[in-house]
Amino acid sequence: MKKESVSLSIFIDALGWEILQSHSFLDDELIHKQDLRTIFGYSATCDPTILTGALPRDHGHFSFYAYDPEHSPFKGSPFIQMMRLVPKALSSRNRVRNIAGRIIRRRLDYTGYFNIYNMPFKLLHMFDYTEKKDLYQKGGINSGIPTITDYARDNNVDFFLADWKAGEEENLGNLKDALGDENRNITFAYLYMASMDAILHQYGKDHPEVDKKMAWYETQIRQLLSKAQEHYKEVRLFIFSDHGMTDVHTDFNLMKLIEQTPLKFGTDYAAVYDSTMARFWFLSDDSEKIIRQVLENVNEGQILSDSTLEKWGVDFPDKRFGDLFFLMNPGVLIVPSHMGERTIAGMHGYSPDDKDSTAAFASNVELDTYPRGLEDLYSLFKQEIDRCMR
Ligand SMILES: [Zn+2]
Repeated sequence: MKKESVSLSIFIDALGWEILQSHSFLDDELIHKQDLRTIFGYSATCDPTILTGALPRDHGHFSFYAYDPEHSPFKGSPFIQMMRLVPKALSSRNRVRNIAGRIIRRRLDYTGYFNIYNMPFKLLHMFDYTEKKDLYQKGGINSGIPTITDYARDNNVDFFLADWKAGEEENLGNLKDALGDENRNITFAYLYMASMDAILHQYGKDHPEVDKKMAWYETQIRQLLSKAQEHYKEVRLFIFSDHGMTDVHTDFNLMKLIEQTPLKFGTDYAAVYDSTMARFWFLSDDSEKIIRQVLENVNEGQILSDSTLEKWGVDFPDKRFGDLFFLMNPGVLIVPSHMGERTIAGMHGYSPDDKDSTAAFASNVELDTYPRGLEDLYSLFKQEIDRCMR
């Protein structure tokens, strides 16, 4: 006998509204498709907002590195000391950094997503890493607020949670098995699909590989739907993303401009060069004036005002993520940065008001209210869980 109702929430990383609009995608199933406002930052910012409904200033997640020498988990590590001695030609290789990252993650016992990216080994001891715990497990959010997975667990709901460390096909297979499992009655499934993001970074928005991936998702989701419909009378489908993707047209060496000043890193200032923004901490009296002067002459980006930071929900009360944020214009990439040594075809993390940054939302059911931004997804998920508990 068929079970009542199941709600499938499918998160396709980086499936922006611009990309969704330019492809046919499950058009016979998805009766509703719309743009969804994103959050300023990267997946490390967006995912906690999706899971909690809170803005970054309230969940405490933004970018992976924050200047905090006192609490740096990297200081005093003999392994990092050793890596500092390795010539840059070797230590900047992706393979070497990936292996080193795995060793550090294991030693620190982190359960969250950990990547040292391109952060120089000689700077690590000044920084804290801000996603130490698995966001999807209890207590995963920095500020301590609960997530939708906590809500499902606390209410003893039979829910399916994809493993973010596993591949897409494995997660799809696991969800299909769970839907077909006689002993389960799933009310809510959360399926995370990561590889669209990687394809868009590698090829940019307009590329046959993107079309191919869209077609693949379409086939996979159709199969998933028919499997669910075999076992449940009603299958409610929601597809959403965290942000879009912007094609990169210009590389900009911001780091060099700052390093040409007389200021000394770690004494006068500290900086994290994320791929689309730079964040500065002022440690000596003159550093703010000098750095502002340099930045004000850069036409490829802009200093974010306090009112913009507040509007975007990234006005952290303790200035944990920087005293000053400098954001590049859409399509301008900081190269090299602490995120990467080389350029890339697509990037996200530009102004959330830019059309290419905009995320997407689609569903096969009508809703009373539709989410307008990422922070609205939490109440949608909660509503879906609640309706199954009734
Ligand atoms: Zn990405």
